[in-house]
Amino acid sequence: MGRPIRGTAPAHSGRGTERPGGYGQRAVGAVSTRAVLRYEMWTLEPDREPDAEPTTYAMQCAVDGETSPLSEDFVEPQNWVLRHCGQHPSHHTYREVITRPWRSWRRM
Ligand SMILES: [Zn+2]
Repeated sequence: MGRPIRGTAPAHSGRGTERPGGYGQRAVGAVSTRAVLRYEMWTLEPDREPDAEPTTYAMQCAVDGETSPLSEDFVEPQNWVLRHCGQHPSHHTYREVITRPWRSWRRM
């Protein structure tokens, strides 16, 4: 996990990006899809900087959708599952929800 990913991303060129949809323009909400685009090189990778948001874990019951509190320690959500099993003996399937911080930056 964690090899940087590089790719191009369309960037708005400042002109014509925030006009409301007018005659002959397709619009999503109030933002026109007509925009002049240029392509820039961006890099994307997991954020391991000291100020990165923490990775968090949660478990969700796939039967009733109930979700454990978020925790930075994966053991706490697993303990939540064991308590949930005790209260709902017919609930056997769960989802682990991992939230991992990523960062992107533009290559100069
Ligand atoms: Zn359940």
